[in-house]
Amino acid sequence: MALIVQKYGGTSVGNTQRIRNVAARVAKYRAQGDKIVVVVSAMSGVTDSLIKLAKEIMPLPNEREMDVLLATGEQTTIALTAIALHSIGVAAASLTGAQAGIVTDGVHTKARIQNITPKTVHDLLNQGKVVIVAGFQGETPEGQITTLGRGGSDLTAVALAAALKADLCQIYTDVDGVYTADPRIVPGARKLDEISYDEMLELASLGAKVMQSRSVEFAKKFGVVFEVRSSLNENPGTLVKEETKSMEDVVVRGVSLDKNQAKITLVGVPDKPGVAARIFKALGDATINVDMIVQNISHGSGAPATDLSFTADKPDLLKAQKVIDGLKSEIGFRDIIATENIGKLSIVGVGMKSHTGVAAKLFETLAREGVNIDMISTSEIKISVIVDLAKGEQAMKAIHAAFLGS
Ligand code: ADP
Ligand code: ASP
Ligand code: MG
Repeated sequence: MALIVQKYGGTSVGNTQRIRNVAARVAKYRAQGDKIVVVVSAMSGVTDSLIKLAKEIMPLPNEREMDVLLATGEQTTIALTAIALHSIGVAAASLTGAQAGIVTDGVHTKARIQNITPKTVHDLLNQGKVVIVAGFQGETPEGQITTLGRGGSDLTAVALAAALKADLCQIYTDVDGVYTADPRIVPGARKLDEISYDEMLELASLGAKVMQSRSVEFAKKFGVVFEVRSSLNENPGTLVKEETKSMEDVVVRGVSLDKNQAKITLVGVPDKPGVAARIFKALGDATINVDMIVQNISHGSGAPATDLSFTADKPDLLKAQKVIDGLKSEIGFRDIIATENIGKLSIVGVGMKSHTGVAAKLFETLAREGVNIDMISTSEIKISVIVDLAKGEQAMKAIHAAFLGS
């Protein structure tokens, strides 16, 4: 008898018929004698509309209250999924994140899982029930409701699979698996049979929202092999696992485009020790994730000054501007310019470690497309460039064709 964790994303539980389909799939596994833990997301669009409601009232709502609000999305789905299983005669019980023993730190809207005490989950499984757990949410040791960052139901599934020592972890979504690029943007994208944790982590962090990046980080840390597959058909999906030697033969595994980034430039920042530390400490304290950072050489006459640009997640832009504004009198920069019209285009592959000329080919392809490069960052297995948002998709298709052939 196997213990299987299955996670169903928003589209897969998007209406009551889809929820019935999920119940039918779960029932099929259950009939084989397996123990099943189901993790569900909010029905598609629900989390977004809850955020919109709050922002109609004020632009920067209190984050504790946002967690109380957003957790209701998944709470609706767990109950409906349990009801759907009951309707076909399968014993099932729903649990909120807190009831499932998911304990997090207190960083509201981006909480990290500290530990999981799955006693109730085990008890219910031992009673022969399918256990349905609300994704994306947990509770602090003090009993505060928290959420795990957008897309966080993936993390709930992977973390539960680790805590329960599950035999299988399946992530059901609305695509057949992980593709060489988002198939909604690049029609020629191909499904991958397997991908390494590191490649998946880079792709996820760089905008491929098929998996939440933190969930991949967690899977790598705890060695949780998982499969991304479709809830709409029976096709085999993509296995995400430790890197194997043969994976290095492929130079570029995938291409991603992150449209969810914003850029802030501080103009005329005094070029002296401690300034960057002050700025990024303040952003860090406000739990703003900063990604690329570029500092120009000093310019102007008199006291040396420079321009400093960085990127952060779009939803954090207002908060970041507020933090930086608060530093203006202390630091004395001249101006702050914020833009949301950027896209981060990236190529990822463990093969880059052992192949040369990859960056040149990327830049040449962008030049041919007439796409200007605003910022560049590289690691051992990825190259990212910031481009004009309006040209992002065109550039992505060209890059995919250049490296992956269609
Ligand atoms: P879920 O609601 O099931 O969590 P998401 O919408 O979060 O699903 O993620 C699935 C979506 O991710 C797909 O519909 C697809 O458009 C997008 N996506 C982006 N990059 C990729 C990729 N490389 N491979 C597959 N899907 C991708
Ligand atoms: N409902 C949450 C979101 O939309 C979590 C998830 O779907 O994984 O981000
Ligand atoms: Mg998702």
